[in-house]
Amino acid sequence: MNHALCSLVTGASSGIGRATAIQLSSTRRLLLHGRDRTRLEETRRLCANPEHHLLWAADLSAVDAIEASLTDYLASHGVRIEEYVHCAGMWNIGPLRLLERATASEVMNVNFMSAVEISRLLTRRKINDKALRNIVFVSSTASQFGARGTSIYCASKGALDAYMRALAVELAPNVRVNSVLPGAIRTPMTESMLADPVLLERMESHYPLGLGREDDITQAVAFLLSECARWITGQQLVVDGGRTINISG
Ligand code: NAD
Repeated sequence: MNHALCSLVTGASSGIGRATAIQLSSTRRLLLHGRDRTRLEETRRLCANPEHHLLWAADLSAVDAIEASLTDYLASHGVRIEEYVHCAGMWNIGPLRLLERATASEVMNVNFMSAVEISRLLTRRKINDKALRNIVFVSSTASQFGARGTSIYCASKGALDAYMRALAVELAPNVRVNSVLPGAIRTPMTESMLADPVLLERMESHYPLGLGREDDITQAVAFLLSECARWITGQQLVVDGGRTINISG
């Protein structure tokens, strides 16, 4: 059977994931992942060649259910995945003493364990032949640095990047694996935080190039997927307008 080759974008129903899908849609057939079919349909309508793209709805916090859901989907639609971009993620803020274990598990599952599960399945010959060529994880500068109240979010992104480096070695030369580490970008995830004018002013003062836009991240993802990056693997590409190299007081 001839399988259609697709690029899987998780978290494609909003923010950076949706923008990434739109950016990649003119040159690829996409498998758009999200939880909410209506929002995924909206993303598909915004893409180039909407009729080419497929939708896969799954809650990634339920890691145990991913195997059956993804495996059945690929088999029943005759699809194989050659590129995998993991944009799905959830933010959590609050002091450690108030962190519930269930919340910590949910953040680890959505941000990290689901990426382990999906990449594990996509490297299985029975499920995906040997189609996989490229993985990009949308991580965060929180993978490298800490801030009050962000322990579990930072841990989830740190785990993702450590996993990315080890995978890059293990899967070479057939598959390249990299991360993009955004600084603050205006998306539904950061909307409420950036709506606070005092916080916004303080944050902006730390960014030499100002806050970022979704397309700043999608361009970096597209670069890492492209042949221009053919000799780049195992890297964290920081895209943060200079935030993390700024040591001004
Ligand atoms: P967003 O909230 O718009 O997008 C997050 C996506 O993840 C959504 O599509 C959402 O449906 C999906 N998602 C969340 N929980 C899920 C679950 N249980 N199952 C399936 N999908 C789920 O936010 P965004 O800013 O576009 O975030 C995209 C990625 O970028 C995230 O991994 C985030 O950590 C990372 N990031 C964002 C910023 C920023 O400033 N916006 C900065 C650094 C990193």
